[in-house]
Amino acid sequence: MATTWHILGAGSLGSLWATRLFRAGFAVQLILRDAERLAAYHAEGGLTLDEKGLRRTYAVAAQTLDATEPIERLLVACKAYDAEQAVSSLASRLAPGAHILLLQNGLGSQDAVAASVPAARCISISSTEGAFRDQDFSVVFAGQGFNWLGDPANPTPPDWLHALQASGIPGQWTPDILTRLWRKLALNCAINPLTVLYDCRNGGLLEHDQEVASLCAELAQILERCGQPAAAVDLYADVRRVIQATAANYSSMYQDVAQGRRTEISYLLGHACAIAARHQCQVPALNQLHERLIEHLTARGLPSD
Ligand code: NAP
Repeated sequence: MATTWHILGAGSLGSLWATRLFRAGFAVQLILRDAERLAAYHAEGGLTLDEKGLRRTYAVAAQTLDATEPIERLLVACKAYDAEQAVSSLASRLAPGAHILLLQNGLGSQDAVAASVPAARCISISSTEGAFRDQDFSVVFAGQGFNWLGDPANPTPPDWLHALQASGIPGQWTPDILTRLWRKLALNCAINPLTVLYDCRNGGLLEHDQEVASLCAELAQILERCGQPAAAVDLYADVRRVIQATAANYSSMYQDVAQGRRTEISYLLGHACAIAARHQCQVPALNQLHERLIEHLTARGLPSD
């Protein structure tokens, strides 16, 4: 029998993956927090995907965390700060050699999950696809993108990658997933916190070029010191390119703060500063940015971790 895709978290990306896999004919089980969320899901009649204004609802099967059936393949689609605890609560259901796919942005949560379930194979995904929830259990596919998948502990690709292609999920295996995750983290650190502090769209940072340049120089230093020199190559030029290409957009961190949602700061700027400290790397501009961001979040009653 074909392996079921268990998908933990029916939020933006979880729903985007679940609906595409389901409509391509793969077996999919959503895993929701509790009976209350499951009842709310059943009341909606399924997951709705809005693609270019075309809305369709798919009756994807769903269960709660405490169902008992074993899990062989788990896509973890919750936020970085929820991942370790959510996966731990499923540890007793994981089949020997289960594959766990981690969609979390930033770094730090992947290692925490891998340490909590050492018998599983953990595969990290760096995604540039964009989706947001317009209602409960309804997701808008907002931005075409790509998914890089890789396992820092084992460069051999898994045998289920064809399922992505068959489902129209753009993706490719890479032996350098850490480089991809670090590069994305560095881009995020150079752009997102400043957009929050200056209350601006990405393009607003063109007026703060010197500050962006200083952050990029420190980020490149961290990347070189922690064994990721490839992620440091032409970082500043790439950051400038992203700022220009996305000038009209609000960053994900900006949107989180504007909507009073917890950010993933600890897995982005917080992680960069922690790694810098571990490698005794002097990064005054990044540390000051981190402090200003924490102050800003605290003043708005948002968690600073
Ligand atoms: P999201 O919309 O907030 O969805 C997270 C989901 O996880 C929610 O549905 C939440 O349930 C669920 N969840 C959390 N803890 C759970 C638990 N213990 N058991 C069951 N479900 C649990 O988040 P997202 O935007 O999809 O982001 C997920 C990750 O992908 C983040 O790290 C994000 O940075 C990354 N990412 C997102 C995008 C994007 O466009 N959205 C793009 C690239 C990367 P409730 O609904 O019950 O709260």
